[in-house]
Amino acid sequence: MKELSQLLNGIPGSVTVSVNEKAKAMQAAGLDVISLAGGDPDFDTPNHIVEAAVSAIRAGKTHYPAPTKGTPEVMEAIARKTARENRITVDSKSDVIVTPGSKWALFLALAAVVNPGDEVLYLEPAWVSYPPMIRLVGGRPVAVSLPAENNFTISEELLSKAISHKTKALLINSPNNPTGRVLRREEVEVVTSTALKHNLFVIADEVYEKLIYEDRPHYSIGAEAKMAERTITTNGLSKGYAMTGWRLGWLVGPTEIIKLAAKFNSHSITSAAAFTMSAAVAALNGPQEAIEEMRRAYQDRRDFMLSAIRGIDGIECQSPEGAFYLFPRFTQTEMDSLTLSESLLKQAGIAATPGIAFGASGEKHLRFSYATAMSDLEQAAERLARVVPRL
Ligand code: PMP
Ligand code: GLU
Repeated sequence: MKELSQLLNGIPGSVTVSVNEKAKAMQAAGLDVISLAGGDPDFDTPNHIVEAAVSAIRAGKTHYPAPTKGTPEVMEAIARKTARENRITVDSKSDVIVTPGSKWALFLALAAVVNPGDEVLYLEPAWVSYPPMIRLVGGRPVAVSLPAENNFTISEELLSKAISHKTKALLINSPNNPTGRVLRREEVEVVTSTALKHNLFVIADEVYEKLIYEDRPHYSIGAEAKMAERTITTNGLSKGYAMTGWRLGWLVGPTEIIKLAAKFNSHSITSAAAFTMSAAVAALNGPQEAIEEMRRAYQDRRDFMLSAIRGIDGIECQSPEGAFYLFPRFTQTEMDSLTLSESLLKQAGIAATPGIAFGASGEKHLRFSYATAMSDLEQAAERLARVVPRL
């Protein structure tokens, strides 16, 4: 056989996806495993959204949608949501693309701005897929490691040290996976002033935007002064609306960038599924109570898990301000996070994602997802209290 793709051979598979799949396979085989691995809400999609999709299928919305970027209804719903909630003004016809999940929206955004060898900065701890995505579009991922001691705060000094004449873009994620951090006003100002000073694009991944606790404000970089023309915002329904399996996301940004992204879309996936666009209209324009209920449930779970694990010797944990992950640090063990996650699976039947998967500054941490039923969290807390002090 001739040599296969060097590019793909050089890229690791997704650890978040694989740990999650492993936990599910163990559960299916009848093993007593509590999965805190998944970034997938345990709630069902709200019924009115399901009904909208079923009606759309029955009404024959089973063909290529027109336009393929998104039907006028969904494009308008996204443009209105973006103006209302994110204070970013976009033209629904020219500045939006609906994608099968925000993962693809990120790919399109990167593909539209990156040339071979361009550097894209991302901030660690970071979601596992950022560096591979940057590589796959021909760019060079450059990690900015944010220190755990400082609760992963972005500083101008750290960012500017990583910038070179090849830096093209900065990838920002708030609320953050895995740390749960939500960008503070000062950090937003660091990001915007750095982007303006060095003429960088910003790709803002806001997929956890609906999951913020304690009334902390969510800042969209694209709404900041002079940032609209250089910011691409990606978002989607997976997390806040409990719709991971629907694969529905979008990107909004400057017309010229969206034009290029649409070309890539047209030659790759053509479009998101037509009837999921109808579901998205129902989700964005319909009642939001169910979304708020889920958010409150996550907040209760977060509070429960935080107080449970903070009482355990050998665990330190900051309070996450958003998303649905805890990112505790294991202070008394010699084990690295990979070995730690394996031991926890073996000794306590708990599946968690090793912190190293999110970059060097994630070492000594594990990621626990609390998009998991309270009864599972209660059991997990008991097992952790028993096992962690002996690790
Ligand atoms: N960004 C982050 C930070 C994520 O954790 C995820 C989770 N899969 C995504 C983007 C992509 O989500 P989706 O493709 O389901 O919209
Ligand atoms: N984003 C989720 C996670 O971090 C889902 C898996 C994935 O797409 O990476 O676990």
